[in-house]
Amino acid sequence: MSEETAFQAPATCVPGVKLGDILDSKIPDGDPATAWLRRRTGYATVSPANRKKFTVVVIGTGLSGAGAAAALGELGFNVHSFCFQGSARRAHSVAAQGGVNAARARKLDSDSLNRYVIDVVKGGDFRSREAEAYRLGIESVRLIDHMNAIGAPFAREYGGSLATRSFGGVQVSRTYYTRGQTGQQLEISAYQALMRQVQAGTVKLHPHTEMMDLIMEDGACRGVVVRDLFTGKLYAQPAHAVIICTGGYGTIYYLSTYAMGSNASAIWRAHRHGAYFAGPSLIQFHPTCLPVTSPYQSKTILMSESLRNDARVWVPKKKDDPRPPEQIPPEERDYYLETRYPAYGNLVPRDVASRNGKERVDAGYGVGPLKNAVYLDVTDAVKQLGAKVVTERYSNLLQMYRQTIGEEPLEVPMRISPNTHYTMGGLWVDFDLMTNISGLFCGGEANYAYHGANRLGANSLLSTSVDGWFTLPFSIPNFLAPRLSETLPAMNDACVLDAVDRTKARVEALTSIHGTRTSTDFHRRLGDILFEECGLVRSKESLTKGIKAIQELRAEFWDDLKLPGEGEGVNQALEKAGRVADFLELGELMCVDALDREESCGAHYRVEHTEGGESLRDDDHWMFTSAWQTQAPSAFDGNPQMSFTRHMEPLEYKNVHVARRNYK
Ligand SMILES: Cc1cc2nc3c(=O)[nH]c(=O)nc-3n(C[C@H](O)[C@H](O)[C@H](O)COP(=O)(O)OP(=O)(O)OC[C@H]3O[C@@H](n4cnc5c(N)ncnc54)[C@H](O)[C@@H]3O)c2cc1C
Repeated sequence: MSEETAFQAPATCVPGVKLGDILDSKIPDGDPATAWLRRRTGYATVSPANRKKFTVVVIGTGLSGAGAAAALGELGFNVHSFCFQGSARRAHSVAAQGGVNAARARKLDSDSLNRYVIDVVKGGDFRSREAEAYRLGIESVRLIDHMNAIGAPFAREYGGSLATRSFGGVQVSRTYYTRGQTGQQLEISAYQALMRQVQAGTVKLHPHTEMMDLIMEDGACRGVVVRDLFTGKLYAQPAHAVIICTGGYGTIYYLSTYAMGSNASAIWRAHRHGAYFAGPSLIQFHPTCLPVTSPYQSKTILMSESLRNDARVWVPKKKDDPRPPEQIPPEERDYYLETRYPAYGNLVPRDVASRNGKERVDAGYGVGPLKNAVYLDVTDAVKQLGAKVVTERYSNLLQMYRQTIGEEPLEVPMRISPNTHYTMGGLWVDFDLMTNISGLFCGGEANYAYHGANRLGANSLLSTSVDGWFTLPFSIPNFLAPRLSETLPAMNDACVLDAVDRTKARVEALTSIHGTRTSTDFHRRLGDILFEECGLVRSKESLTKGIKAIQELRAEFWDDLKLPGEGEGVNQALEKAGRVADFLELGELMCVDALDREESCGAHYRVEHTEGGESLRDDDHWMFTSAWQTQAPSAFDGNPQMSFTRHMEPLEYKNVHVARRNYK
């Protein structure tokens, strides 16, 4: 960065927030297009004979964790793999539907690596690293070959080549898919590779086990403390390196498309030890979820974005139109995405589609029993292509709709509404995917890399898989290579005993409140606060209100939590309570981050910073990643008073022209 463009940290409007350091991403200088290739070539390696001397812990068995554990096992490292599910293959990645992107450019639609990078950086509204987008694009090519080779049954064209389709925010066809079950098929393939290593003895699997804390020594991570979810037993697993791959934290909103068990606890425990948390308020609301229909609902269901290839989004032109959709003639329908964004139409990125949908509903054009939805209509496609073709493309999604809503989507337009779907925020990592804590790495949705202020559809299966298969297996050996003489902490070392004691104290603190309200009750109320005050649309007023409401709710939690049972044995109420306690801290940081960032970018839409109803970025002041540090006393004896420091990683674009996003 030249002297004239030297980074000046903007002041903060949030009382008590301190400004911290300028962070170094460790991206090699020079052309971002070749940064990854140069970094990878320069990595040190560990000789095959020495690899088994190193112990690596991987938390999580989704696409990132399973990939990393299988690859490091194959290399010969001694790997311990943990997940809270009963089987490693049940990680939340199985839920992914629509597809995985790759810049293979096999179609005649002018796709290329550069076009991919432009789409990703622009899609993320210029709040992500350019060199990371190149890494994704470069590795995407062998990722598809790899997953194809280890068993993912990708859809194929008549001649046998792999089929592709389009996703939001792009005008080319680069999404590879296995009907509407892409995540499941990739996860099964990764799981098979993982089990191969279990069989070979390089990976030891610990299902039904939750990471509770880190073992820390002199500021470095030296392993983990876990809880066996059957017996309640706490035990330590020392390691030379720990990789957290625990997925996203969107369940903080209570209602979301995530698996019910998805949580923030592993990354929040790491954060409380000093690992910076980047962009916590950057949350993706997916436009095509099934609308909420009941206050007793505990999750929402996604209808994949891929449907927007063939489906048209609309609402009636008349407010409160009582007619069923099939009786509303085309000229009385408002195809608002097609008219407002003619260039991209129904394939605008998710943040744009979600906000426009919310705007139509708030303006009184919502449809369905609660008037909280818009139509997603495949009936025109059925007329043009035939029911058989549409069914072939989306069979399981259509089936899901039939079973959930009880209507026939080939004949009656589906109803959709935006809901929480993906967290761009996560632990800050450098180009090697290491956090600012030595020895602690983070992969997959749990980290903040690649996606900036908005993730493009089908880019997460790619980024999680690239982290797991093609980044961590290179950067971990590079970290370990100079540490051959380092021994692991012994079970009776102070750092191990301290970590176990901290965990016991936390379990004890949670089980000894004896209040009257369940953690689910607190979770639901937290979700309502966040959705209202730090949701699709934010303002200074709403965020200030949100911070206060969350602080009060957290105080009430530590005073009135009802938690049946003990720390021993199976206790799902205890598991849930620990996760909600962490959410109640993270929720405050999310509001602080959103209040601090005085601009609109991607999914972060501040009503004070708009022009003609569209987001107004402020590149002069905010072209950087906020990476937060939280100062607080131990959380284990109750409601912590937290204060925050904002560290900053300046962002620079050398190849992609910085411009205002325009999908019109
Ligand atoms: C409905 C739906 C559809 C989607 N469709 C697509 C799509 O088509 N394309 C796309 O690119 N992306 C899609 N996504 C996003 C994508 O699926 C996820 O971002 C990605 O799968 C996350 O993978 P991961 O490896 O980071 O984590 P996950 O798959 O979430 O795995 C997390 C792992 O961490 C473990 N874990 C968590 N906490 C702990 C703890 N404390 N201790 C021990 N273990 C722990 C869990 O047991 C699990 O094994 C979709 C998401 C949803 C919700």
